[in-house]
Amino acid sequence: MVEIRNVHKRFGDLEVLKGINLTVNRGKIISIIGPSGSGKSTLLRSVNHLEVIDQGEISLDGARVNRPDLKGLAFEKHINHIRQNMGMVFQHFNLFPHLSTIDNVTLAPRKLKGMDPKKAREWGMDLLDRVGLAQKADVFPNWLSGGQKQRVAIARALAMEPKVMLFDEATSALDPELVEEVNLVMRGLAEEHMTMLIVTHEMGFARDVSDWAMFMDGGVVVEEDDPQKLFSNPEQERTQSFLRKHL
Ligand code: ADP
Ligand code: MG
Repeated sequence: MVEIRNVHKRFGDLEVLKGINLTVNRGKIISIIGPSGSGKSTLLRSVNHLEVIDQGEISLDGARVNRPDLKGLAFEKHINHIRQNMGMVFQHFNLFPHLSTIDNVTLAPRKLKGMDPKKAREWGMDLLDRVGLAQKADVFPNWLSGGQKQRVAIARALAMEPKVMLFDEATSALDPELVEEVNLVMRGLAEEHMTMLIVTHEMGFARDVSDWAMFMDGGVVVEEDDPQKLFSNPEQERTQSFLRKHL
């Protein structure tokens, strides 16, 4: 579903991604762990073309994301289409503060698919129900807890029926007691076989939900393995030392 081939990215003199490879098969869940600054966010943002890679190739369900051959409007059209197939959830919720919960969720299907308001409301209610927030449909984001906001952000990301969900530290800005309600929603998606790429600092969660785990440091994949193996018996010294501090 997602193919990342020899991806390089630099910011000025700093090479942040130094040849990353990763294949995410349909229905699989990959966790990416690693110290701050190792390039995890840059990698996820590159998948979505929020960062423009310098070298390599990324594709989604067989379609290339980076298309240097397309210019201007043609590229805009292409990338908008690609992005409709990816749902992204960030550390900070990025909900539209002036829109109610349900309007946040239904904005994309209304604007991009021209879904009519009645159908959009039904669809939005379904999605809010999935994240346990149907009762908050007409509330504004300011009235929600951090965990609730993040669950709305997930519902919003699901609204275009993406082929893959990208999570960048979705729970790391939350108070500890709010983490589990978001994790529960993510576990629900896992049970429905949503393809997911998850950057997380929660090692236990990563071990539980993922099919494959990847440890990045300094812009390279230091080690990747079955999560049971990676978390309990890592081979590389750098992985061992990171996990000693974070498990
Ligand atoms: P992580 O998510 O693993 O903490 P990031 O991908 O955010 O790491 O960052 C990797 C490196 O790239 C860091 O050194 C960071 O400072 C740098 N970086 C990220 N975004 C930018 C940017 N827009 N401009 C310059 N440097 C950046
Ligand atoms: Mg990051």
